[in-house]
Amino acid sequence: MGGLLTVKGPFDPVNPSHATFDLFVQAQSCKDVKHHFAELCKQLDINPKDFRSFYGKLKERLNYWKAKALWAKLDKRASHADYQQGKACTKNKCLVLGAGPCGLRVAIELSLLGAQVVVLEKREAFTRNNVLHLWPYTICDLRALGAKKFYGKFCTGSLDHISIRQLQLILLKVSLLLGVEVHTGVEFQGLIEPSGDSGWTANLQPRSHPASAFQFDVFISAGGGRFVPDGFKHKELRGKLAIGITANFINRNTAEEAQVAEISGVARIYNQKFFQDLLAQTGIDLENIVYYKDDTHYFVMTAKKKSLLKKGVIKQDYSNADELLAPVNVDREALHSYAHDAAHFSTGGKLPDLQFARSQSGQPDVAMFDFTCMHRAENASFVKERRGKKLLMALVGDCLVEPFWPLGTGIARGFLAAFDTAWMVRSWGMGIPHLKVLAERESVYQLLSQTTPENTSKNYAAYSIDPKTRYQRVNLSAIHSNQVRNVRDLSHSC
Ligand code: FAD
Repeated sequence: MGGLLTVKGPFDPVNPSHATFDLFVQAQSCKDVKHHFAELCKQLDINPKDFRSFYGKLKERLNYWKAKALWAKLDKRASHADYQQGKACTKNKCLVLGAGPCGLRVAIELSLLGAQVVVLEKREAFTRNNVLHLWPYTICDLRALGAKKFYGKFCTGSLDHISIRQLQLILLKVSLLLGVEVHTGVEFQGLIEPSGDSGWTANLQPRSHPASAFQFDVFISAGGGRFVPDGFKHKELRGKLAIGITANFINRNTAEEAQVAEISGVARIYNQKFFQDLLAQTGIDLENIVYYKDDTHYFVMTAKKKSLLKKGVIKQDYSNADELLAPVNVDREALHSYAHDAAHFSTGGKLPDLQFARSQSGQPDVAMFDFTCMHRAENASFVKERRGKKLLMALVGDCLVEPFWPLGTGIARGFLAAFDTAWMVRSWGMGIPHLKVLAERESVYQLLSQTTPENTSKNYAAYSIDPKTRYQRVNLSAIHSNQVRNVRDLSHSC
């Protein structure tokens, strides 16, 4: 037990590690989470790098009723047969690129399988206010990981959404408790092939970062939209021009604000009159709009180009979406007014004093995006071999399938892919031949883009990393081993 404990005893309120645990649980920034976690490890004299026994020691030494309530949840998850008591992947070392929600979610599963897991994140802070729609299964999943203990507002009332940053904070805390190593402020710049005695490593910025010495046999890319590591190809699905606008306003949590109804998705086809009135009264022409009340008042809408030009938001018309939405072609002030007026109208003017929240750069948190092209990876997995050392690679989250934000598919499909990927790593860890592992992963991946809350299993409590628990009709052998020979690269040269 650490020498810093002044008084021993499970219910002693002055036990410093109890206070530190509370601070860790309540921390509202990535920096604070890491700080309180490091402090907790120091107080309890546990080495966070000792991933194999970290969680066990933590449970043993932090004899605090609040922590115990959390252990009960995590233990329940960890006891699932799929993890084979945390022994399914004890020989595997996994590098996860990106501490977005999907990178962290897959990291948790890999650590439950017993693998050593290192997550790399280039940003130092979690600052994204934008709010993600949650399908019912993701709410159950997050609850089971103790989300409500970390974020009291989680799942209160009709909430079926969460801000990106809150979700990252919850998953970061769970990851750390389970022994995942999370490094922020470090950028992945590529893979380094094995040489001499060394296995696969990563080229990082800063170069001298300790994680550059980490050798791994599994590499998961969860780097977000359009991040495509070598070996993967993306398909572009081009639709008709779609311009999205996101806007976050300060939520002062007043009684007045609490009464304003959320808009879970008003699409033009369902409410023609609303959009006609909006156009007539404001000149704003939208395809759809969503409003969620979370840490901020968050709006996401798809706007018609003609009205953006008319309102002076876009200065000049171009057929190319990149030129059209290039910063030089956007009048920020006009964009702010457009987003403000759309938010004001759609909430019946009931949100008093709509003031923009600030983005990380201190600017009003308003953004305009092009949704015209959606990217989707052709394959979800890949195996490389150099000098007799195999590397299993996989994509999860937005870099696997880019979501259509207004439909809120990002987290739902992102977590499904995180579970499917963990299932694949489990097979890899159990020594199943790599072509079979790849074939099974690609068989499951075929289903992902068609998933909806309706066509996936409703038995949320039974969801596990096993695809059969989640997809209603899944044929794990839909793709045969001989069809995935192109998703491996076994060249033995260096
Ligand atoms: P992300 O959340 O994008 O996380 C990827 C992480 O990888 C990031 O933290 C990034 O910093 C890190 N990273 C990238 N490259 C490297 C590298 N080389 N080295 C180290 N780290 C790296 N969805 C909605 O439903 N509504 C919205 O309004 C909405 N707004 C969005 C706004 C933006 C700017 C973005 C990028 C996405 C938005 N999304 C939105 C999508 C939503 O954020 C994702 O679906 C969700 O966060 C899950 O994504 P992910 O974990 O796959 O990727």
